[in-house]
Amino acid sequence: MSTPSLREVIAYTRRLTPLHLELGIPASYAVDRKLAPHLEADEATLTLIGTNDEGRAIRVIPEAASAWTRMRASAALERITLIPISGFRSVARQAELIRAKLAKGDRLDDILRYVAAPGFSEHHTGRAIDIASPEHIDLDEDFERTVAFAWLRERAREFGFALSYPRGNDTGIGYEPWHWCWHRELPDAP
Ligand SMILES: [Zn+2]
Repeated sequence: MSTPSLREVIAYTRRLTPLHLELGIPASYAVDRKLAPHLEADEATLTLIGTNDEGRAIRVIPEAASAWTRMRASAALERITLIPISGFRSVARQAELIRAKLAKGDRLDDILRYVAAPGFSEHHTGRAIDIASPEHIDLDEDFERTVAFAWLRERAREFGFALSYPRGNDTGIGYEPWHWCWHRELPDAP
């Protein structure tokens, strides 16, 4: 996977437009929330790293999978268990998640604080992993109180993983201590 060309990004954004219209996502979404589109990984290349509670496969791109395996093994040496909860998610699946929340009566604005609009989730890239631990299995802010989170803060960078949405980040996405993304070249530490 190389950096997408402008043409690819434009074609992708065009494909997202009908979905965004259907879900009621404002045209100013990307600008308002300071979010860039994330292109979908080629599903055929993804590697299985686990299954979630619903029996859904958790898959990421091969480089992220091998980094994850090494990171998980290093944590295990210190008796820390890292549990993958979610990996790659398609644009279609992202739309499904938002549709289900809207059907339950949740407000779109509230939904978009933790669920990116289709096309804008880092999970599309196959590089992001939501991580939990046996001491705290829910994906919420209290994950930051775990030894697993403390370990990740200290060590994840060695394996190429960075926290995408730290507390007070300037995007329209809230603090997500569970969401880590593997990078070929790591961004600056928050
Ligand atoms: Zn996530």
